[in-house]
Amino acid sequence: MAVQLSNRPDTFRQFALRRASELKQKIVPYLQKCKTIPTGFTSIEAYQLRRATILSYFSATLEDWENWHWQMHNRITDAHVLSNLLPGLTSEQCQEIERVGKTFRWALSPYYLSLINDTDPFDPIRLQGLPTQAELVDDFGEEDPMGEAITSPAPCITRRYPDRLIINVTNMCAMYCRHCQRRRNIGETDTHQERTQLKAALDYIRANPEIRDVLVTGGDALLLGDLTLDWLLGELHAIPHVEIKRLGTRTPVTLPMRITDQLCSILAKYPPIYINTQFNHPKEVTEDAKKAADKLVAAGVILGNQAVLLKGINHQPEVMKKLNQELLKIRIRPYYIFHAKNVKGTRHFVPRIQDGLAVMEHLRGYTSGLAIPTYIINAPKGGGKTPISPQYLMSLDENKAILRTWEGKLIQYETP
Ligand SMILES: *Cc1c(COP(=O)(O)O)cnc(C)c1O
Repeated sequence: MAVQLSNRPDTFRQFALRRASELKQKIVPYLQKCKTIPTGFTSIEAYQLRRATILSYFSATLEDWENWHWQMHNRITDAHVLSNLLPGLTSEQCQEIERVGKTFRWALSPYYLSLINDTDPFDPIRLQGLPTQAELVDDFGEEDPMGEAITSPAPCITRRYPDRLIINVTNMCAMYCRHCQRRRNIGETDTHQERTQLKAALDYIRANPEIRDVLVTGGDALLLGDLTLDWLLGELHAIPHVEIKRLGTRTPVTLPMRITDQLCSILAKYPPIYINTQFNHPKEVTEDAKKAADKLVAAGVILGNQAVLLKGINHQPEVMKKLNQELLKIRIRPYYIFHAKNVKGTRHFVPRIQDGLAVMEHLRGYTSGLAIPTYIINAPKGGGKTPISPQYLMSLDENKAILRTWEGKLIQYETP
């Protein structure tokens, strides 16, 4: 589309000003909507009040709060204790948590609990952390939709791709997400893998030189103790064909005090290390999360985020856009948005694929490319990550394409 302009600079400027005001109009609805989306940074005072309530209940100090062992030791796993800490909880809700908790284990770190606004029944932290009746709906999903049980060629290992694999080092987490894809592994007890099992996994990697990328996950990889992590990363670092190491952890979200100076000095010894975490809502991007991210960046770690698209939590385009913008502020690059998997007891969280497409459509062009992750559906039975995208290439033949721009304009594009 050729625009006829007289060749005078002031005409160019007027044209650009008109376009700029058109662009400005496009963002008005989002800026309006943002006023109703809470973020970790806009909720600081409420968070500090709830932290004080929890500390006084446990007769603990701020120093305890900053200690990840204290946080793990005092995880809330009892509905009665919870009702003391969330005054807004009704006795029916309390009984519901108790009842459902018998089938699907729950636990919250005091830190993650302190992010819940208990006057909001749809608080995104609460929805991720506290069990509800909906989990007992039993006509949907599988225990192991990823087929992990059938893609393990050696102890602790899941291999689904030619050049990289996963080592599962623990089933432990700081909290148990209600949407967890590995609920089948959570069980009743927390267990780290035995050293002998981890050694067998390392032997497999040593014996397969095409493996250039090893992803240590769980559970939550950073719930391993510092000594074990130091040993495991050291062993991986010493394998010449392992070019990069990755850690999968939700601790920057659920237990940011885990990111200690000592941990960072271990991580700094074995570059390059990539950490992917899982922030699902802008409320999780807090001052503490920022502190954790700053430390990891200073240790040379490269940070990414793998969000899960969850109905009622972040399936709204504005929430997902805000989340990705908040993450960039704390130097975490959005990497993937996963469509929630068909896991037993999680039907109420599973959005429509149309929701995911709408999210992606509202990112491209409307915000920084850096804030745009890849939207992935995991093919069942270990079929692999499959990228899903709105269609921007409307047609293509030998030397002509029809493109759709981010604004929906159709453009003919010719190639020689
Ligand atoms: C997700 C995953 C990976 C990593 O995939 P990337 O697309 O490289 O991030 C590797 N192995 C398994 C089994 C996985 O599920």
